Amino acid sequence: MEAMMTGMINNIFFIIFPIILYQMFATAGQRNFFVSHRTTMTVLFSISIILCMVFPYQFLTEDYIFDLRQVPMIVGALYGGPIVSAVLFIVSAVGRIAIGGDGMYIAILNQLLVAAGVPFLAPLYSRVNRWWKAVLVFSISILSLLFNMFAGYFIFGDPIHNLIGIWLMLMLNQGGITILTALLIEHLQKQEYLYNSLMRHEKMETVSHFAAAVSHELRNPLQSVKGFVQLLQVYEYPRAKQLEFQQTILDEIKAAEELIDDYLIYAKPVYGEMKHLEVEAELSHVIKIMSPYANARNVELLVKRGNSLSPILGDSQKFHQALVNIIRNSVEAMPDGGKLEIELETSGSSICVHIQDEGVGMTKEQVNRLGEPYFSNKSKGTGLGLMVTYSIVDQMSGEISVQSELGKGTRFTLEFPKLTK
Ligand code: ADP
Ligand code: MG
Repeated sequence: MEAMMTGMINNIFFIIFPIILYQMFATAGQRNFFVSHRTTMTVLFSISIILCMVFPYQFLTEDYIFDLRQVPMIVGALYGGPIVSAVLFIVSAVGRIAIGGDGMYIAILNQLLVAAGVPFLAPLYSRVNRWWKAVLVFSISILSLLFNMFAGYFIFGDPIHNLIGIWLMLMLNQGGITILTALLIEHLQKQEYLYNSLMRHEKMETVSHFAAAVSHELRNPLQSVKGFVQLLQVYEYPRAKQLEFQQTILDEIKAAEELIDDYLIYAKPVYGEMKHLEVEAELSHVIKIMSPYANARNVELLVKRGNSLSPILGDSQKFHQALVNIIRNSVEAMPDGGKLEIELETSGSSICVHIQDEGVGMTKEQVNRLGEPYFSNKSKGTGLGLMVTYSIVDQMSGEISVQSELGKGTRFTLEFPKLTK
């Protein structure tokens, strides 16, 4: 009995292992692994079949040796279709011939019937719910054992009534394990499906946020362009006035263009464009583009550079965007002007960028909500700037920490892993 249990558990392991292995190595996001990875599954299931046949187990009495090769055959035929089924049949038939013995022809004939017949049930199988799937695989499993039983009786005269108990146990045993295997696969596929729809949902969310942000922000410049054009249509302005209006229109269009650039940088695909970035050079660029903005608001930009030139990994434009969004907030936090300190610091394994202002500061609750979409305390804020920054820094495997005190100021720290050249 103990030998039987061990043998059976080994067989179960041989069947489950390819499924688990697949789960471990498959790339997430590919639904229905038997359809998208037929070859892999066929190879893995062939290995299961061979292992099952090489290590069979005694069933109840010493006369009966049994293995569970039918389980991968049935499951493979149902999920993989006729070609997978044919390959698995060849593997098991060759294996069975190698083992030899009395039952060989019956076994091979039985396997042929399973391999040829079960794929016809595949369309039905894929339509029904999992309880009917369980019923279906159980029935197939039992039918194939019944075939063995009767074939043994008619060809070799094996007495059924003596062994009926054993046959029933076998049917329950193999049928139960087939059900478990099928349910395991169903479960894994369902997980995969849920994961995929979650990803899709998240992408949709991001897209709709950006659609909302861009349309919201574009409305203002468009409104003013429209207003000026209408004025120009209705009144006969002097030349100087016309030029002034036209310049305003051009400015508004430029603002709209910049806005589109800002947000579309974020919407660009993430992967495949991560490059080595020299933080110092990137920072200089950002400071150059932000200086006019800061100066116009009486904010003094102070820069302390580090001494190391270790690169980090990221997309240059996105990195700029992340910094610009923080700096813009810091400048906005100092309506009466002040000092904005930007410091580059290199430590053992990371590079930090500190951005410190002497602005209005935030409460703990506000700090905790930073990066949340639409979280804004400004009358004309979008609450998207820091969401973009957080997401970019996250894509670069960096981290953001914020220290802030109401009325005193705020310090943003971006920390990135250093790349060794
Ligand atoms: P927005 O600037 O459009 O409001 P952000 O995502 O850029 O959206 O910022 C969210 C909120 O975080 C701001 O409304 C502001 O209240 C707060 N905040 C961000 N940076 C600072 C800062 N340096 N000082 C004070 N408050 C800040
Ligand atoms: Mg902002």
